Amino acid sequence: MAATTECGADSNALGNNMSLKKALSAASPLTLRVVAECPVTKARACDLILPHSDVSTPVFMPVGTQGTLKGITVDQLDGLGCQICLGNTYHLGMRPGPELIEKANGLHGFMNWKRNLLTDSGGFQMVSLVELSEVTEEGVKFKSPYDGKEILLSPEKSISIQNSLGSDIMMQLDDVVSSTVTGPRVEEAMHRSIRWLDRCIAANKNPDKQNLFAIIQGGLNAKLRKACLDEMTKRDVPGFAIGGLSGGEEKDDFWRMVTLSTDHLPREKPRYLMGVGYAVDLVVCVALGCDMFDCVFPTRTARFGSALVPWGSLQVKQKQYAKDLQPIDPDCQCPTCKRHSRAYLHALFKSDTAAMHHITIHNIAYQLSLMHSVRQSIIEGRFPEFIQTFMKRMFPSREQYPSWAVDALASVNVTLE
Ligand SMILES: [Zn+2]
Repeated sequence: MAATTECGADSNALGNNMSLKKALSAASPLTLRVVAECPVTKARACDLILPHSDVSTPVFMPVGTQGTLKGITVDQLDGLGCQICLGNTYHLGMRPGPELIEKANGLHGFMNWKRNLLTDSGGFQMVSLVELSEVTEEGVKFKSPYDGKEILLSPEKSISIQNSLGSDIMMQLDDVVSSTVTGPRVEEAMHRSIRWLDRCIAANKNPDKQNLFAIIQGGLNAKLRKACLDEMTKRDVPGFAIGGLSGGEEKDDFWRMVTLSTDHLPREKPRYLMGVGYAVDLVVCVALGCDMFDCVFPTRTARFGSALVPWGSLQVKQKQYAKDLQPIDPDCQCPTCKRHSRAYLHALFKSDTAAMHHITIHNIAYQLSLMHSVRQSIIEGRFPEFIQTFMKRMFPSREQYPSWAVDALASVNVTLE
């Protein structure tokens, strides 16, 4: 009987979600239900209810380019239990272009992906990839790398492309400044990002289907970041991202800006920390109160033969694995670890790009499984213990713990043993 009651409770919760979703669907196509909050740190586990499926947070979102993830198919991603991934607006907006994708029933139809998609504004790629870009109040001007034509990416244009792509979450166009830049340019970019947010809100043709997230800027300056938080949280957007970090700044500055942001973001809306994907950073930033993360690191590093494991990483190409018949990680449940040995992958790397695909699958599975374990520990009220075990496994000794992580965790009442 007990089991039936538990099942009943589960399906009730699901039923409540469904009715809540219906009731709120007119206002915003997103609902955040806080499932559990860590009594010690700022960590929380939530159900994020989006148009295409529910997402369990904290969540890591793999990054796709041109509508596909490098080294992995949509079916494989689905098989790993991925509930949301990123589409790249810059690449898709250039080629094949928004018109074709709209014809294919949006990016979901074009990719044949049934779960959620988040698209970026396209601005970051332009500033980082295109040398000849210029930011004015109107938008970001740049020369197309394909035909040299001058293109203006305005807040309106970015939203128009993202409306064509039909993503579940769209990002505002922001004025991106490298996190190592200081001075008046940071303040200018912060104020401009607020003005561009208002233009993005006004330009969104599908507010009932697509969620627009604001991006908190302000560089590494606490006063500017607080001013940006105050202004942006006055807008009734469905979610907030913490932007302008993870760009080579000191880790000590990084975590202080993250925790300042989560201190002032509303409890009932999702908090997305952009560009963060190292395992230690993920665990620490969950403790600081972030819900969503993305990073190209796990898939990019896979292409160099680096497999992510609970004790750091394993370089498959190294000689020591040539005769090693164990899987990458004996405790990993992913298709690669179930089927292939380190020795096989080592041999494959010499002749075949398939080795990269196998490691990409493992690395995404590692990220998803790490976040799943984090979430379970929050729900079961043992997240602080999880952090201790995680750190002990990741580093050979206490002396090797990064000092920023020790300080960041101490700020949320976790003293590393
Ligand atoms: Zn694996």
